Amino acid sequence: MADQAFVTLATNDNYARGAMVWGKSLRNHNTSKKLVALIGPQVSEPCQSVLKRIFDEVRVVDVLDSGDTAHLAMMKRPDLGVTFTKLHCWTLTQYSKCVFMDADTLVLSNIDELFDREELSAAPDPGWPDCFNSGVFVFCPSMETYGKLLQYCTEHGSFDGGDQGVLNGFFNNWATADISKHLPFIYNLSSIAIYTYLPAFKQYGGNAKVVHFLGKTKPWSYAFDPKTKQIAGSVQEAATHSTFLLDWWTLYSSAVVPMLQEQYGDQPFHSGCVEFQYSDMVTFQSAQGEGPSALVHAQALESQLSSEERKQKWEQGQADYMGMDSFDNIKKKLDTFLK
Ligand code: UDP
Ligand code: MN
Repeated sequence: MADQAFVTLATNDNYARGAMVWGKSLRNHNTSKKLVALIGPQVSEPCQSVLKRIFDEVRVVDVLDSGDTAHLAMMKRPDLGVTFTKLHCWTLTQYSKCVFMDADTLVLSNIDELFDREELSAAPDPGWPDCFNSGVFVFCPSMETYGKLLQYCTEHGSFDGGDQGVLNGFFNNWATADISKHLPFIYNLSSIAIYTYLPAFKQYGGNAKVVHFLGKTKPWSYAFDPKTKQIAGSVQEAATHSTFLLDWWTLYSSAVVPMLQEQYGDQPFHSGCVEFQYSDMVTFQSAQGEGPSALVHAQALESQLSSEERKQKWEQGQADYMGMDSFDNIKKKLDTFLK
């Protein structure tokens, strides 16, 4: 339907790359809905061009020079910058219903059925299940609701400093009022949940429709070798993100990087795709240089596992970080490769 849309937000080029992969993943699963990206003015020209090719609508939102109530709210609560930007999705009043999704989500199958749900439908947060996770939610754009949200935000702030705290404060009867507004967890499967309740992930994880790379390390924080399909990044986090991370990089490197390359032309840009050398293993820094310094080669990780069971544990994020899988041991192993 033309008046229904999937919406995401990207205030910088990193989140913009996430938005591109997200948009592509929805297109690959033949969504019949419009795709909208809200972006900040900091998103570079080449990234904006690529977004415009993937999305039906790319709208620049800048609470700092909008001069409206959002601006006034922002002046009072400068700590809630990105949060105010996310609330802008309620101003998309040319659509009657929308599904907002974080730019760090990946769609694994068609999810158009989400539009059968009412505002505000969302999945439980894996950390505090009486709160909904604001990475995926169904909403109805309305200037009236937008105004009330800004007012709420200005007066009460956010208990977690972000949009999730504001939205849970505003839609505060979500947990108890109407069970049909509880989306099944498979619409917002966070990688955290994989290791916090592994048997449930084994039982239900195969049905996942959306994976959410929640937390500090995002898919674009790693690096990837498209030839060998290997990921480099912090040991601990790469393991917990598991195979979904590989799905993200496979889509990004095959469908998004060529579009970026076209836009950047001769200008250099950091795609995150590299050809790994063994000598890269300990010196390589991921795109953002985040995370612990134990940056390793996926193959190197596997080859140091002594049994199938141990490999499985590792992939489940249950590595023995203090013992066998300690940084010192990993480094020793890597040194043997380097010799
Ligand atoms: N976001 C953004 N720029 C930022 C931080 C966040 O555009 O600097 C947007 C983006 O859509 C992101 C969402 O806000 O997915 C929520 O932030 P994030 O996913 O980092 O939070 P988490 O899901 O890890 O709690
Ligand atoms: Mn997120």
